[in-house]
Amino acid sequence: MHPIIARNIFHLQENLLGRPSFKILAELLNSETQSQEHIRQLQLKRLQQTIRSAYIHSPYWYDLMKSEQILPASITSLDDLKRFPLLTKETIRDQREKMVWKSGGKRIQLVRTSGSTNEALEFYTSSTREAHINAARMRGHQWLGVRRGEKELYYWGAPIELNKQDRIKRVRDWLINDGLTNGFEVTSERLKGYYEQWLAWKPKCMFGYPSTLVLTVTMAESLGLDLKRLSQCGLEVIVTTSEMLSDVDRQLISAGFGVPVYDSYGLREAGLIGHECEHGTMHCMDEQVILETIDPVTLKPTDGEGELVVTNLVSPAFPIIRYRTGDIVTLSNSSCPCGRNLSSIKISGGRAVEFVVTKAGKWVVGYSFIYIARSVKGIVKFQVIQQKLGEVRVKVVVDHCFPADGIEQVKTQVSKRLGGDDLVVVDIVDDIQPAKSGKYRPVISNVAEALYQDRNFEV
Ligand SMILES: [Zn+2]
Repeated sequence: MHPIIARNIFHLQENLLGRPSFKILAELLNSETQSQEHIRQLQLKRLQQTIRSAYIHSPYWYDLMKSEQILPASITSLDDLKRFPLLTKETIRDQREKMVWKSGGKRIQLVRTSGSTNEALEFYTSSTREAHINAARMRGHQWLGVRRGEKELYYWGAPIELNKQDRIKRVRDWLINDGLTNGFEVTSERLKGYYEQWLAWKPKCMFGYPSTLVLTVTMAESLGLDLKRLSQCGLEVIVTTSEMLSDVDRQLISAGFGVPVYDSYGLREAGLIGHECEHGTMHCMDEQVILETIDPVTLKPTDGEGELVVTNLVSPAFPIIRYRTGDIVTLSNSSCPCGRNLSSIKISGGRAVEFVVTKAGKWVVGYSFIYIARSVKGIVKFQVIQQKLGEVRVKVVVDHCFPADGIEQVKTQVSKRLGGDDLVVVDIVDDIQPAKSGKYRPVISNVAEALYQDRNFEV
């Protein structure tokens, strides 16, 4: 599809869904070059609107502000935000129905996420909120020279069996120049097929998880596939998402494909938070979020380095005020050669996601299990552990919503995902402890680790 036609079709789709994404994109491209003071004024105005609306329409926020003696009119500076207590995942989980303003926008719907950890979380989104996220994502890609409508390949999860809706989505993706390759299950055999498809489709941008891209580069090398040929066919840039991108992985992916690699950072429940510009600075989406850092132990505010706390400024239907992310970051206001006056963020601490390897030699990416945890009700936390080839153990922490046949459901879905006769054992446990770093590891596989060390992908 011609990029301009694809862009217009995407525009039309956004309008039909009540999402003014292109209008917001134009505003973002304007505000990013305004002075820092101008951007702070915009943040304050949006913060005041968010707090006023939360007070009027959301019983949870009304009760909280009453008990904390915060009146919306008393919020006169960005510092006043610190009068609010911190918001946790647990509170969202318990108070969700009291937090939502169901007539606060179009297409308000419940979505489920596991985000950067493997704790499931349900929250509400709306057309407005999605439009802001889409616009912010479009802006980030535009910084790297990719405009909506140009061919972008999404290298990540895909449903195992396509239902009618999935098939419609495939056609829509084709119309708007979005390609999809299943990055959840990579085998040597499949990679050969993907490689041919990519060479034929000629994407300009590839979008995926660092872990899958690293595996792809290493596997391609052992198969003798030259990924650099993609750059001769039009591939210009790779954008990563969802996991920590280490410098080593960035170099490895970039050397493998022969194009620069840029990172983006977001949390489904808090919005798109940062996107790298062409100079490699991860700029914050200052027009949409207010970011702070705290000491994760004392919970006191810190000066730019610590656990990230996010306030979303563009989600009136489901206000997120001072949300603890669990991610350790450094925030900065120093200027960037690109000339954009947005602040910047550096993420430290792992968000690594690993693989499980099946007897048939399939490398199944950890994110695919997160999708399973999302689809079964009542799963609060989960972890997949593989200690030997042919056996996968799934630990789940559940609440009262977990169905009577929940264990069977998880087992069936995991088996389907693995796609062979590997043994799957599901255990309900009281809790799952985070790793020493303080982060949850959704997948721990000694098998994949050992094979990877030996660069042995055939099992
Ligand atoms: Zn920059």
